[in-house]
Amino acid sequence: MIDLHVHSTASDGSESPTVVVQLAAAAGLRAIALTDHDTQAGIVEARAEAARTGVELIAGTELSVEWAQGAMHMVVLFLEPGPGPLQDRLAELRKGRSERNARIVERLVELGLPISDSEILELAAGESVGRPHIAAVMVNRGYVESIFEAFDRYLAWGKPAYMARPRLSPEEAIGLALESQAVPIVAHPHTLGLNTSEEVSTTLRRLAGAGLVGIECYYPLYSPFEREGYSALAARFGLKPSGGSDYHGTYKPDVELGIGRGNLAVADGLLDALRPA
Ligand code: AMP
Ligand code: ZN
Ligand code: FE
Ligand code: FE
Repeated sequence: MIDLHVHSTASDGSESPTVVVQLAAAAGLRAIALTDHDTQAGIVEARAEAARTGVELIAGTELSVEWAQGAMHMVVLFLEPGPGPLQDRLAELRKGRSERNARIVERLVELGLPISDSEILELAAGESVGRPHIAAVMVNRGYVESIFEAFDRYLAWGKPAYMARPRLSPEEAIGLALESQAVPIVAHPHTLGLNTSEEVSTTLRRLAGAGLVGIECYYPLYSPFEREGYSALAARFGLKPSGGSDYHGTYKPDVELGIGRGNLAVADGLLDALRPA
């Protein structure tokens, strides 16, 4: 089995790239993709541990793109660290992220829930800081009982401390990924907010037309029925199925590497089909 959607301390996972690869080896996974948000800072470290343990490490990232109806995240696989069309844009995205984080902190102060930048930076070891770190500080401060509650009451879209940040359009993200010889995949498609089969068709046709390669059909909590449904859609729109746990360590309690909430199983064959030609 494999896991093609994993986060580390380079962004908002709680475990270092080394530990993530060790967990993969212990779980018997053949390959994992490190897909930290807007950064590839964990790849070199993860690769070193992968070489020691015999796990294959796919370099990647995860982007949040412009999508009014819901959340569209793009997992990009086979994105090699270093200079390149998409790689060069990541720093800009991280800048937008830190400016957004500062506005969230200001808003929380206004709401009577003060937190400081130093508290956030104490938790965030990597170069891509995000809302889960802010949520964890809010838990430490006793403002909320869980990361989930921090999102549900304050940080999620439409909640009082939500702040937008600059994003690529879906077409820009797909185009840059392809120019970088990488493989763009729509992550956790249930968050797209598609309510009718017409919206599903329009959206997948648009993304496939832009060059999208894959769609996550295997994700924690997707039933066999849903996996089949997404896989059938993938086939209909010429997309390849992908899947992963979206492991974040303690930032997403209950989700384990490789198995998600227990029932995830992503077969090796999916990776072979996704490899760039
Ligand atoms: P950011 O990239 O900083 O905007 O934060 C997005 C990340 O926060 C996602 O990738 C998830 O890991 C996490 N997240 C988003 N929404 C929620 C939620 N409702 N509950 C818990 N975690 C969430
Ligand atoms: Zn995340
Ligand atoms: Fe995501
Ligand atoms: Fe993710």
